[in-house]
Amino acid sequence: MDLTIVGCSGSYPGPESAASCYLAVADGFRLLLDVGNGSLGALQRHADLAGIDAVCLTHLHADHCLDMCSYHVVRTYHPAGPFPPIPVYGPDGTADRLAMAAGPDAGRAMTESFDFVTLKPGTFGIGPFTVTVDHMRHPVETFGFRLEHGGRTITYSGDTGPAESLVGLAAGADVLLCEASFAPGPGLPPDLHLTARQAGEHAARAGVGRLVLTHLVPWNAGDDAAGEAAAAYRGPLSLAEPGMVL
Ligand SMILES: [Zn+2]
Ligand SMILES: [Zn+2]
Repeated sequence: MDLTIVGCSGSYPGPESAASCYLAVADGFRLLLDVGNGSLGALQRHADLAGIDAVCLTHLHADHCLDMCSYHVVRTYHPAGPFPPIPVYGPDGTADRLAMAAGPDAGRAMTESFDFVTLKPGTFGIGPFTVTVDHMRHPVETFGFRLEHGGRTITYSGDTGPAESLVGLAAGADVLLCEASFAPGPGLPPDLHLTARQAGEHAARAGVGRLVLTHLVPWNAGDDAAGEAAAAYRGPLSLAEPGMVL
């Protein structure tokens, strides 16, 4: 499987990247992980918007889901459309939240563009992928994702504070795509985000083959996130960049 970084800016779009969006492809099946603000533009560099087969949303913060409103417009009003509904896996309340964000005048209902599926911790299939999800530690219900295909595994943290469930989801993964939002410092709030060093600690404990730091927040630009993570994780380590393919 390939996973393309469509957008990786943390908490809001940055000058060089949209907010969170990742495109996983296997056997020609295209699965989007998060559709944060700004990502629908960047996505068109990597995929035909009519060719997405399924969407997974880790949680309902704007930087992970808001461009679903624009994607609803594409699927409804494209000259070749309307396109048939595709499955959207998300936390409880996803359909209502997205419909509210789109507004009452959005025309065709969100539920005609998308078949919403409420996530619960566990393992299931999406196209050719074996997907395992578990709760992360964040102020709203948030899921981390483990994607397996062809003997390879990629785990994506979504947004989370330190979490045993993330270590479990990432156990033995080839790649851990892990958020590293916080700059190091005292008094960081619990159950919100990870520092780069904490991302490294989770990667080391899970024994992953490679760590890719993502969701770095533009207001921390210039921090040595890679150096911080390397203090805890000795394996291959990189920072996510738009267009990077894992
Ligand atoms: Zn976020
Ligand atoms: Zn969040």
